[in-house]
Amino acid sequence: MGVDLHLHSTASDGAFSPEELVKFAVKLDFTAIAITDHDSIDGIVPALRRAGDFDIEVIPAVELSSDLEGRDIHFLGYFIDYKQEWFLKHLSKLRQARYERAVKMVERLQEMGLEIALKDVLQEAGKGAVGRAHVARVMVKQGCIDSIEEAFERYIGRKAPCYIEKYVYTPKDVIKLIKRLGGIAILAHPGLSQVDEKIPEFIRYGIQGLEVYHSNHTPDDVRKYSKMAREYGLVITGGSDCHGLGSSRGLIMGSVRVPDEVVENLKTLKDLQKNNP
Ligand SMILES: [Zn+2]
Ligand SMILES: [Zn+2]
Repeated sequence: MGVDLHLHSTASDGAFSPEELVKFAVKLDFTAIAITDHDSIDGIVPALRRAGDFDIEVIPAVELSSDLEGRDIHFLGYFIDYKQEWFLKHLSKLRQARYERAVKMVERLQEMGLEIALKDVLQEAGKGAVGRAHVARVMVKQGCIDSIEEAFERYIGRKAPCYIEKYVYTPKDVIKLIKRLGGIAILAHPGLSQVDEKIPEFIRYGIQGLEVYHSNHTPDDVRKYSKMAREYGLVITGGSDCHGLGSSRGLIMGSVRVPDEVVENLKTLKDLQKNNP
């Protein structure tokens, strides 16, 4: 029983392979999971393949970032038609931008006297889309700092000296992109993003739900966003946002209870969309 619709694999900055995530989910007796890697769909096919051995559903999904006046706002896309050529090209452009960003970030850290090498960061990322989490993990491994949190606070967090701006997409761009993929667009972890006043605008662009259940949401957040979802006629989704061991919060899969009906509601929306594109 239960589902987890927010998981990161080694295809982005998660520590577990898509296959391992499926195995954990089966152990936890989940009926469905979604692999929601940042800017990558490479985890979807391996997870689907592994899920074929068990009685568990894998929903093709992605997590995309946008910038709203200097704030990082994430959206989740569920049931996306991820094999479209234009989207694959888009993702490879993002990947190149991520690579260039990692190069600049490492240079900045080296200028500050830290012993960190680009090759170690790229190795940490493996085949995944390289990001700040990989830089932070290498910093901890090298003993430059004690924790992932410290890496973000002192060096690579948004207000820290080695922060490098990301490519910028607006929330509108990202929501439209998810819609173009035939996906259901959801505002990720609104309790963290703190953009309540923008939710009506996001609805106009096409979001159809709020991620109400999330490992960083307080019981008050859950109540508040459930109520908001009801008022706006949005679906509710949820997941742990697990990045696996070695991340700042460890293996948190299973830490958030998300009811099975969430998936049914998403499927209803997907069917409606198919019939009225
Ligand atoms: Zn996120
Ligand atoms: Zn996430």
